[in-house]
Order: sequence, then C-alpha cells, then structure tokens
Amino acid sequence: MAQSQGGQAVNLNDSQRKLILEKVKNVWKGKRDCPICIESTVWWIGNLVEVKEYNEGNRCPGAAITPLLQVQCDKCGHVVLFNAISLGVVDPETGKVKEAKP
Ligand SMILES: [Zn+2]
Repeated sequence: MAQSQGGQAVNLNDSQRKLILEKVKNVWKGKRDCPICIESTVWWIGNLVEVKEYNEGNRCPGAAITPLLQVQCDKCGHVVLFNAISLGVVDPETGKVKEAKP
C-alpha cells in the first residue's frame, strides 16, 4: 500500500463505500451520461486521492491538502472529482473517512 507523508492511503471498507454511494446519489441530480464518451451512464466509485494547494516556486511542504473522491466512467475512464469534505465523506476535524450510520 502506498503511504503518503503523515498519513496512510485508505482502503475503504463496506460502511464507508455505502456512505459515499449515498452522498454521491444525493448530490448527483443531473444526467449520468458521461460527457466525454456519451456511451455510458455507469460510474465506479474509486478511492480517495488528495491534491495539495499549489505554492509557486517550491515543493509545497505544509501546503493545504484537499481530499477528493474519484468517480470513474466505466467505458472511457473519465474521472469526476468531488471534494470529499464538502460531500460529507471526510471529517474536516480529524481527516478521517466517515462511516455510514447503522
Ligand atoms: Zn465515458
């Protein structure tokens, strides 16, 4: 498993995947047709990734990190990204991935 500085890559468990699916369904009210290949309406929930805020001229030590959820088109691989904190998947206080309520 890839390990990033100061944390560990997350293997999402069933409860987390369930929560993520609910959250995405809640916000994705538009058409599900892929805007790139227009052949698929099937999307896969991928793992969380993170991007660092760009700091011009250095390697961004300590830059703010935004966790993103990847949702990928089944046909062409086009990826849609959701801010995992705004989506309600990652707790902004702890940085932990939330679990579905039982
Ligand atoms: Zn596609």
